[in-house]
Amino acid sequence: MKVLLKLGALVMVCSFLSGCSLFQSDDDDDNTTLMLLLLAASQSSTSNPCSGSGASTGSTISNTTATLTGGTNGCLNGVTTSMDSALPSWIKNNFTCSVGYVVGDYYCFKSKNLPNHASYYWTRNGTVGTNAALDAGLPTLDGTTYTAAGTNRIGSQNFVYAIPKNPTRNTGSLTGTQGGLSSIGITRNGVAIFNNAAAPGDTLATEATTFDAFGAHPNDQSITHHHAWVKKFSTDQSATSTTSYNDDTNLIGIALDGYAIYGIRCSGQGNATASGLDTLHGHTTTTTDFATATYHYHFVLDSTATIKTLMGSYFYGKIGQVSN
Ligand SMILES: [Zn+2]
Ligand SMILES: [Zn+2]
Repeated sequence: MKVLLKLGALVMVCSFLSGCSLFQSDDDDDNTTLMLLLLAASQSSTSNPCSGSGASTGSTISNTTATLTGGTNGCLNGVTTSMDSALPSWIKNNFTCSVGYVVGDYYCFKSKNLPNHASYYWTRNGTVGTNAALDAGLPTLDGTTYTAAGTNRIGSQNFVYAIPKNPTRNTGSLTGTQGGLSSIGITRNGVAIFNNAAAPGDTLATEATTFDAFGAHPNDQSITHHHAWVKKFSTDQSATSTTSYNDDTNLIGIALDGYAIYGIRCSGQGNATASGLDTLHGHTTTTTDFATATYHYHFVLDSTATIKTLMGSYFYGKIGQVSN
């Protein structure tokens, strides 16, 4: 049995077995309070099989000194890309800015969760100009198309994902994407994927103006994440354009249940817009990455979010684990 006590921004969680823990709460975004409570509740469950193994993800990076290395697809200085040869081609040939390897039945990813693109959130409160290397060329925060997500800013994390390497359909009660997880997947440039929830009273459609020019924003735990478009993989890389996001067949990432996430179009359907999708944003077809028909998700209109998002409200498959 757990008892919780909320005091302003602090939440205390107490249990008979483990005593009390204090967490920073966040009412600004993504049901984080609920997330923290459920994380606390799960602390005594099975440990993450990917913890404690694999290479370092690199050093902690300061917002004010961060720079990009290796061109537009390079990572932040100090962030490691390392994909073990045991990983399948669709992962090791596409994923960057994280450390990937295999442990038992899991693909493991460790990530600092630092995006490799310009963003208002390298600095604070959308004050462009502090880090010329990473906020130059961004569109103006006009308060309409682009607004600041409070005083939130990007910060280093220590995500460890254990993702089933042989994904299986969950034929029982589906696992929700809405709470209890610190991330529901990882983009192929190493950034967390979040669900379709917004701060209470908002829809994600309202919050979408706080996505930066590449589709990411941090919550007040400094966890940068994508709910929706990921311009980094779009054919349109202009920081000032708001069109053509993920209008191609590009691979975007992998969900915590092991299934791939793609853009709007489906290479399994001759480069047409994906069709025959279920309410989870998915269908089972071949793709350029899978010669055998395999379930995968698409970036499409979500009924909860009322905008196009990367996943629906439930996972199709049985999920692995994520810790941060
Ligand atoms: Zn968010
Ligand atoms: Zn498809």
